[in-house]
Amino acid sequence: MSDSPLLQRLSANLESVRSRIESAAARSGRVSAAVQLVAVTKYAPWPAVLGLIALGHRVFGENRPQQLTERAALVLAETPQSPVDWHLIGQLQRNKVRAVLPSAALIHSIDSWRLLERVDQLAAELALTSQVLLQVNISGEDSKGGFSPDELKTCLTQAAALKHVDIRGLMTMAPLTEEEAVVRGVFRGLRELRDNAATSAMPLAELSMGMSGDFEIAIEEGATLVRVGSALFDGCETLS
Ligand SMILES: *Cc1c(COP(=O)(O)O)cnc(C)c1O
Repeated sequence: MSDSPLLQRLSANLESVRSRIESAAARSGRVSAAVQLVAVTKYAPWPAVLGLIALGHRVFGENRPQQLTERAALVLAETPQSPVDWHLIGQLQRNKVRAVLPSAALIHSIDSWRLLERVDQLAAELALTSQVLLQVNISGEDSKGGFSPDELKTCLTQAAALKHVDIRGLMTMAPLTEEEAVVRGVFRGLRELRDNAATSAMPLAELSMGMSGDFEIAIEEGATLVRVGSALFDGCETLS
C-alpha cells in the first residue's frame, strides 16, 4: 500500500499543508507545534481517511454528528492500534448530543447557552467531562451561527457553574470573501475577544479558526487549531 497513488497524493498534500503551517507560524514568530492541524473529512472518501491515518495523522474533524460517530467506531475497529481524536466542527442539535458525546474529543461548535447546558447535563449522566469551544459570530452575518460577542460574555459568566464541560477556547468562521483584510479582521477580532474574556480560571487557550482558503492568515492571527479539508484531500477522490 505504501506506493499507492492515493497514499502518494495524500502524503504530498499533507506535506504541503504542513509546510504552509510552518511558514505562517514562522512569519508571525510562533512555533508550528502550537498549531494543531484538524483534517476535515466531511467530503473525504473512506480510503483517504484510512490513508491519512496510515501516514500518521491523528486528529480529524467531521461536521455531522452521525458521520463522526460512525467513522470513530470504524477507525477503532479497523486500526485499534492507532487511536485518533475526532472533533465535531459542525452544528449540533440538542437531540444529537447524547449520541456524539462519547466519541467527540473536542466540540468546536457550541453555539448557544441551551446547547452548552445540554452538553453539561448529558456529560454528567455519562460521567465524563466534555471538551468544548464556543463558536462566535464575529462578522455578524445573519447566515453564520454562534454567539455574538455580548452573548459570549453572558455565557462565560453563567458557565462558571457548569461542572462537566471544559471550555477550552473559541471558534469562528471567516466570511466567504477574497478580501484578505476582512478575513484577517475577523480572526483578529476573535483573538482580541479571547484576550479580553480570558481569566486565570478559564484561559480560553484554544482558537479554532482557518480553513483551506485562509488558514495561513488565521495562524498569523493566533489560531491554535486549523480545520483543513479540501487542501488535504484534493485529487484523492478517484485514487485508490
Ligand atoms: C468543511 C469545513 C471546514 C473545512 O473546509 P475546507 O475549505 O474544505 O478546508 C472547516 N470548518 C468547518 C466548520 C467546515 O464545515
